[in-house]
Amino acid sequence: MKRPSLLILSVLFSVFCLGISLFIKNAEAVGQAPVPHDASHPRNKTPLLKEELKMAHTVKQGETFMIQILHPRKGFDEGTAWLTGVKAPLFKQTNGSLQGVMPVKVNQKPGGYTFKIQNRDGKTLYESKVEVVNAHYSKQNIRVSSSMKGTQPESGELETIGKLKKETGGTRYWTVPFVAPTTDCMNSRFGNLRLHNGKFTGNYHKGIDLRSPQGRPIRATTGGTVKISRFYRLHGGTVGLDHGQGISSIYIHMSKLDVKPGEKVEKGQVIGRVGSTGFATGPHLHWGLYVNGLPVNPAQWVHPKRC
Ligand SMILES: [Zn+2]
Repeated sequence: MKRPSLLILSVLFSVFCLGISLFIKNAEAVGQAPVPHDASHPRNKTPLLKEELKMAHTVKQGETFMIQILHPRKGFDEGTAWLTGVKAPLFKQTNGSLQGVMPVKVNQKPGGYTFKIQNRDGKTLYESKVEVVNAHYSKQNIRVSSSMKGTQPESGELETIGKLKKETGGTRYWTVPFVAPTTDCMNSRFGNLRLHNGKFTGNYHKGIDLRSPQGRPIRATTGGTVKISRFYRLHGGTVGLDHGQGISSIYIHMSKLDVKPGEKVEKGQVIGRVGSTGFATGPHLHWGLYVNGLPVNPAQWVHPKRC
């Protein structure tokens, strides 16, 4: 009569194994969530940072995470964070904290990277690992007409736009959450590798496209200063906003511009209308977001619905 008990034992054992594997699976899923950790996390190798630190240790390719040092000691009013050679300055905020925004390159190889916080003298106060995870961006083919193929940027166009992305003012005008520039659905994601008529362009989509009809009002996603408001040959009707402290945004292919360079804009203020100007296949809004010089996924900030 030993056989039935062996059978029961083996059934019990398989149930136990299944339980263990489910438990491990759950633990992995939780481990991948971008949950902020504080400085007391065991991955902190240089405990010179006595202040409380809030940041994520897991981030997707092309996304951004915020770094917040609460109650910095006297004299600690600026610093720099580093990840994969990308520099994020930390600015003193009105609530006394030090804050910065760290972008991750869209094509950064997934894996663990050293993250550092340095004071103004370059001394490392904090070091830990940040895990970059695959965002699984895809490919997108665009049918380009022969008349579109000849669209070239005008003189100074790329330089002015390049400057908007890299240079932002020291005053912070941005606050979270952002508002969507239009409430229409997203028909092209950030990070897609772009093909024109089936041929790789070597470029990826540096913003998101919202399938908005001609004339739809476009709103400033957060507060800022107007740096660009003009019609360009390649980008079409363009508004560029400097939100300060590392963040800028661009809205292109517009049919009408409602703001002037130098003007301050509030979050939600109408800055222009949707169009199909410049290198565009039809009316839509291309919205690009830049953090410390890198294009990042705007969908992380406003969560638009997919078309
Ligand atoms: Zn686009």
